[in-house]
Amino acid sequence: MKANAGNATGIQKKKMQGYVGFSNYPNQVHRRSVKRGFNFTLMVVGESGIGKSTLINTLFDTKIFPDREEMPPSAEPIKGVDVTSMSADIQENGVKLRLTVVDTPGFGDSINNEDAWQPILENIESRFDAYLAQENRVNRSKISDNRIDAVIYFIKPTGHCLRAIDIEFMKRLHTKVNLIPIVAKADTLTARELELFKAKIMADINYHGIQIFKPVSDEFDDPETVSDNREILSKIPFAVIGSEKLVERPDGTM
Ligand code: GDP
Repeated sequence: MKANAGNATGIQKKKMQGYVGFSNYPNQVHRRSVKRGFNFTLMVVGESGIGKSTLINTLFDTKIFPDREEMPPSAEPIKGVDVTSMSADIQENGVKLRLTVVDTPGFGDSINNEDAWQPILENIESRFDAYLAQENRVNRSKISDNRIDAVIYFIKPTGHCLRAIDIEFMKRLHTKVNLIPIVAKADTLTARELELFKAKIMADINYHGIQIFKPVSDEFDDPETVSDNREILSKIPFAVIGSEKLVERPDGTM
């Protein structure tokens, strides 16, 4: 579009800055989104003590999960699986993120964990229903999207095959969410053990036809994105090591 500096009636039009046209729309949307910030809802699933709070607090460099001592002493331990959520506003390089972490305390902690996936699936589905109900409203200007963007599933670093609870959980949920299985506390395995464990996990996942989250590349991606995606793919399932404490090595590095 060509900017018009003035006209015969003497009305001075404002000179346009830069290119104006609909092909600039993605940039405008991008700027608006960055200004408004993003919402991200992450669910974490794994038995207690597996390192969920440590990983999330480390990953986002924020104390999203309170310290165990700060948590109110509950009169009774949780029976079954509970679903709780915590939110935090995070900012990085000027980009705002409203992070919600949905925790699932009690998962895998009972003697019989056969139906441990059920309350989690129900919670995920109720979020879909709530979103759909808003979409069906006449006034859709203020839609709050509380659907789960991804589930991080913590696999116990046993070095053996996946356990029945892991397979059952993933089979029940894989078509509903972006499932990211990770090997928890990977420092408890040697590099060789970890490599073999990852291969066993992938064999089980493929055998059971479980779809896990994988980055996708398309023909329009630049070569850098394609090679990044390839590298990410080669590391699935990710192995994580979390710590909220800094430890000084003998050589003085942290
Ligand atoms: P949660 O109950 O799943 O939230 O587990 P926590 O994050 O509270 O971790 C339980 C314990 O495991 C704590 O003492 C952590 O310091 C420790 N821990 C967490 N992540 C790791 C890890 O990657 N490696 C090792 N060795 N210990 C970890």
